[in-house]
Amino acid sequence: MDFGFSEEQLELYEAVQEFCDDVLAPKAEETDAKGEFPWDNVKQMAQMDLFGIPVPEEYGGMGLSWMDWAVVGEQLAHACTTSGAVFAAHMLCMYPIMAFGSEEQKQKYLTPLATGEKIGAMGLTEPDVGSDAGSVKTKAKLVGDEYLLNGTKIFITNGGAAETYVVIANANPEKGMRGLTAFIVEKGMEGFEIGKNEKKMGFPSVPNTELIFQDARVPRENVLGREGRGFRVAMDLLDVGRIGMAIGAVGLAQKAYDDGVAYSLVREQFGQKISEFQAIQHQIADMAMEIEAGRLLARKAAWCKDNGSPELSKIAAMAKVYTSEVCARVCNRAVNIHGGHGYICDHAVQRYLRESKLFELVEGTSEIQRNVIALEVLKEAISQRK
Ligand SMILES: Cc1cc2nc3c(=O)[nH]c(=O)nc-3n(C[C@H](O)[C@H](O)[C@H](O)COP(=O)(O)OP(=O)(O)OC[C@H]3O[C@@H](n4cnc5c(N)ncnc54)[C@H](O)[C@@H]3O)c2cc1C
Repeated sequence: MDFGFSEEQLELYEAVQEFCDDVLAPKAEETDAKGEFPWDNVKQMAQMDLFGIPVPEEYGGMGLSWMDWAVVGEQLAHACTTSGAVFAAHMLCMYPIMAFGSEEQKQKYLTPLATGEKIGAMGLTEPDVGSDAGSVKTKAKLVGDEYLLNGTKIFITNGGAAETYVVIANANPEKGMRGLTAFIVEKGMEGFEIGKNEKKMGFPSVPNTELIFQDARVPRENVLGREGRGFRVAMDLLDVGRIGMAIGAVGLAQKAYDDGVAYSLVREQFGQKISEFQAIQHQIADMAMEIEAGRLLARKAAWCKDNGSPELSKIAAMAKVYTSEVCARVCNRAVNIHGGHGYICDHAVQRYLRESKLFELVEGTSEIQRNVIALEVLKEAISQRK
């Protein structure tokens, strides 16, 4: 299904596919195993202008759609999950500046992010603040023309590699979540340090670090939107983040499926290819069906973003929870199809299974997505009864 893509769109996807096939995919294992930020890949992605796909041309972007961003993000995740993750996390910083930034902030911060000259990251999570994003404890106190930030963020994707950070802190704790404020923070600002980089179950080349603020001096003009708007900024960026996770999950699931099917076509047991066993065929059928459904949902979420649909939060949450759970199931089945060989590191499917878990946990766990969906559908049901 080509979704009525234009010639220009198809040309872009073809160029990205060539890059994926020639550059990213052949060294995906090495990129993962190195445990280092994939600067080479990132530089080439920047040369192709991929980071700025939905950013207006006046700020160095390509001025294309969220659908284009979604299609390309899936291609990247399919070829190299590490590069796909960097690509998605970068948007968590770029999007809020695009949506809430002043003209000066866009000129100064959005343009180098869109061109990929600088990498971005977003800091919301703290040691005691995860799903309950409204209870952020990092404080921001206005002193003269600067805010002093104090607190610690954890697990921040692209931490350390990024030069630009969107950070949520509370500038007015007595107001609770209405005190939350989003700040643009630059690497190197006085009082801002990068802390430990976590060891994880997968994605060793994608940094997930602490951000430590000790009287970090952030100029007043770096407030995004206005003071007290941080919760809204966070919720809006999470809608986009969930599309990013959904396309990553579809890309990874497709890769695990491809490897599983390829193996089933060559592995022989009981004198026949294992793809000839109906038990294997049914697993393949379920995988193909669920990936297709997940892709449609992820693209519907991108469509909602492009068209300013009021259904965006609901569909993005549906896309995120569905695709992440499909991805985990598909990766598990891909290991099963490989039998014991799937547990051995010579095959990448064991890595995919480890990586798949991430998509269920970040940008809101599956439980939180279901809370969002239930809230939205019940709101709709109640309004229809009136
Ligand atoms: C690899 C990785 C990358 C990340 N990248 C970033 C990043 O770039 N920026 C950033 O800010 N954060 C990032 N995070 C943080 C991530 O978004 C959080 O870990 C996630 O939101 C869950 O928060 P938590 O870990 O504190 O879990 P908790 O909130 O403590 O949840 C624990 C369990 O309780 C459940 N639970 C909590 N509340 C409810 C509820 N109301 N109803 C039902 N169940 C509930 C959860 O679903 C979960 O099962 C990253 C995390 C990881 C692991």
